[in-house]
Amino acid sequence: METITTTAAIEIIPIESGNELLEVRQSAIHGTGGYARVDIPAGTRIIEYVGERIDKVESAKRCEAENAYIFTLDNDCDLDGDVSWNPAKFINHSCAPNCEAEWDEGRIYINALRDLKPGEELTFNYGFDMEEYHEHVCQCRAPECVGFIVAAEFFDQIRSLVATSKTCI
Ligand SMILES: [Zn+2]
Repeated sequence: METITTTAAIEIIPIESGNELLEVRQSAIHGTGGYARVDIPAGTRIIEYVGERIDKVESAKRCEAENAYIFTLDNDCDLDGDVSWNPAKFINHSCAPNCEAEWDEGRIYINALRDLKPGEELTFNYGFDMEEYHEHVCQCRAPECVGFIVAAEFFDQIRSLVATSKTCI
C-alpha cells in the first residue's frame, strides 16, 4: 500500500520568510531588501536565485515589459526570478556589493564576498549591460556609486559618460 509522506516537502513557504541566512524586510536602498539573519562568513552560499526557465524569445519579451529579474543562464535559456518562490529577488543592487552572483552548472547562487553581520543589508551587482542604462538609476548610496545599475566592467564607461554630460550642461 502506498502512503504519502512528502507533505512537508511540498509545503509552500511564503517568500517573505527568506531562508535560514536571509531575512526579508524593508530596505534602506529600495523597496524590500534581503538582510543577513545571522553571522555569515565570506564565501558562504547564502541562497539560490531561483525562477522560471525561459527561452530567449520569451526572455526578450519580458525584458521589454520592464522585468528586471531576468538572468542569463546559457546560450539557450534565461532565468526569470520574478516569481513567488524566489526570496533572492529582494536583494538589491549595489555598486559596492557585499555579495556576488555565482553561475554554477545552470544555476545561480548569491554568495557572501566578505564576512557579514546580522542585520546587514545584502547586495550584489546585477551585472546589467549598457543597454538603456539611463533607465536603471542606482540609489545604493555607496561612496563609489556610479549612479546607474551596470556591471563593474562598465563603471569607467559610465563615469566618462557622466563627466561628458556634465561639461555639456
Ligand atoms: Zn550605486
